[in-house]
Amino acid sequence: MHHGNVIRGARVGSAPERPPERYAPAPRRAVVYWCRNGHWMEILIAAEADAPPQWDCRRCGQPAGRDAENPPGRQRAEPYKTHLAYVKERRTDEEGAAILAEALAALHRRRGR
Ligand SMILES: [Zn+2]
Repeated sequence: MHHGNVIRGARVGSAPERPPERYAPAPRRAVVYWCRNGHWMEILIAAEADAPPQWDCRRCGQPAGRDAENPPGRQRAEPYKTHLAYVKERRTDEEGAAILAEALAALHRRRGR
């Protein structure tokens, strides 16, 4: 035997089956947060910890609160929008392309000097 079979009879590759681990996670509780866009999510926090009053929505980044009926930010007259959202709202794609081209041209001019 020159093929490196170390010990005859030892089953190569027979990884021990993973024992059903009984790890005990720290006690946690689920807290549900709602954002004003209708998203909700469940956050697991340590059972003994106080749930933060707000959490950033995972889907839209808005602050989410624990009251589904009254998520944070809804009472604002002007809904918060990202800069990009404003840009998209105000400008057509064509205008956006023109602006981009202009910006690139300006960049090139600056580099040229
Ligand atoms: Zn959201």
